[in-house]
Amino acid sequence: MKYFSTRDKSLKFSFKDIFLRGLAPGGGLFLPSEIKKFNKDELNDLSKLSYKELATEIIFNFCKEEVSKKELKSLIEKSYKNFKDEEVVNLKRLGDINLLELYNGPTLAFKDIAMQVIGNLYGHLKTAKDKPLNILVATSGDTGSAAIAALNNRENINLFVLHPHNKISSVQRKIMTTIGGSNIYNIAIEGSFDDCQKIVKELFNDDSFRLKINMSGVNSINWARIVCQIVYYFYAYFKLKKENISFSVPTGNFGDIYAGYIAKKMGLSINKLIVATNENDILQRVINTGEYKPEKVKPSISPSMDIQVASNFERLLFYVVDQDDQKVSLLMDNLSKKGFFKLSQSEVKDIKKDFEAVKINDETTQLIIKNINDEFKFIIDPHTATGIGAARKVNGLENIVVLGTAHPFKFSDTVQKATGKNLVAPSHLIMDIDKKEKFDIIKNSNSKVKDYILRKVQ
Ligand SMILES: *Cc1c(COP(=O)(O)O)cnc(C)c1O
Repeated sequence: MKYFSTRDKSLKFSFKDIFLRGLAPGGGLFLPSEIKKFNKDELNDLSKLSYKELATEIIFNFCKEEVSKKELKSLIEKSYKNFKDEEVVNLKRLGDINLLELYNGPTLAFKDIAMQVIGNLYGHLKTAKDKPLNILVATSGDTGSAAIAALNNRENINLFVLHPHNKISSVQRKIMTTIGGSNIYNIAIEGSFDDCQKIVKELFNDDSFRLKINMSGVNSINWARIVCQIVYYFYAYFKLKKENISFSVPTGNFGDIYAGYIAKKMGLSINKLIVATNENDILQRVINTGEYKPEKVKPSISPSMDIQVASNFERLLFYVVDQDDQKVSLLMDNLSKKGFFKLSQSEVKDIKKDFEAVKINDETTQLIIKNINDEFKFIIDPHTATGIGAARKVNGLENIVVLGTAHPFKFSDTVQKATGKNLVAPSHLIMDIDKKEKFDIIKNSNSKVKDYILRKVQ
């Protein structure tokens, strides 16, 4: 199968190309030329599989030219051996809520599910004669640690993680900065997550720098991450055994929920995908009004969603404008020149066939954490709480699955405030976060980051 760019359909890339590049030339995002649609019988066969077998079947569709099914199966087995449960994820019932726990991997957020596979794919797709790879990633708090856990001490790979200085939780930071492999570089940028993401994107578009350091990226704009996340939508659907189900997804960069959109295209009976946001509600605004206009980032108690530029939205846009790459380019050009773009009413209507969007403020989020604990003696993290809040606000939907995106321990302070409970680290956390932290603070500037990387790779 070939991949093209949302801004240029004539480009043709292999899975290996898009995996290693992350971002398409000219700034677009990669999409596959075909998306397999399963029929009823095929779905029935898939429903009998274990999580790991299911992951093999789904992911294989997107990389068959480069990886054999046998290789993929063993790679997936290896990827999920550090998870708390054999079945990787867990669907739990709390009253009328179906909670899909996705945070039982080594760094306690759903990001582990894709990142562990990606770490092993690097090992597989990168040949020994390749130059050392320098991976750059921007994180709002959870991607970074998942990438570090997946790539720590891997041969011939350096990982540079940019996080917004003082804008993530202290546990999130410690999980990233205490592991200390010699190939891991933590950079605290004096700015927001959007600033970090902007630097990474600009360095990717700087061809001479990108080639010079042999750069690769693992942000949620990397298609391979989306592919790995499609699996748990299938898994939850098969576990629930209901038709026309909906998913409520705590959303920032629009990656996780976009995986649900692809799952629907692959034949799952999904009714609505509910975008749950915090005060950084650009997605809520674009889905309800058509205007996509980033504002200044507002720090919240769900920092992994403190994002105003939801990069993966471009992948939805491509389908909303009937796969017109020129139109996508034009809209993205408007965004960079004027600071916004506006969709037509019919385009908004089209989006609303598949999506709902709800904003939940910090105060409500706190209250939800408290109520869930009072009612079920169960602690959730603030991101998951927005998912539950959004699910409860949308009328007329049945069988909603809420994606539990992070373990509450990562946000101990917020959880303590809401419930009075002190949490201890779960045993599947692989880092010893009491060790000495290692990170460098750098100004919000491309050239400063470039200099830093060049110094380290020489
Ligand atoms: C990354 C993250 C999100 C947002 O996911 P996107 O794919 O960026 O939309 C939500 N919750 C948690 C805990 C996260 O780490």
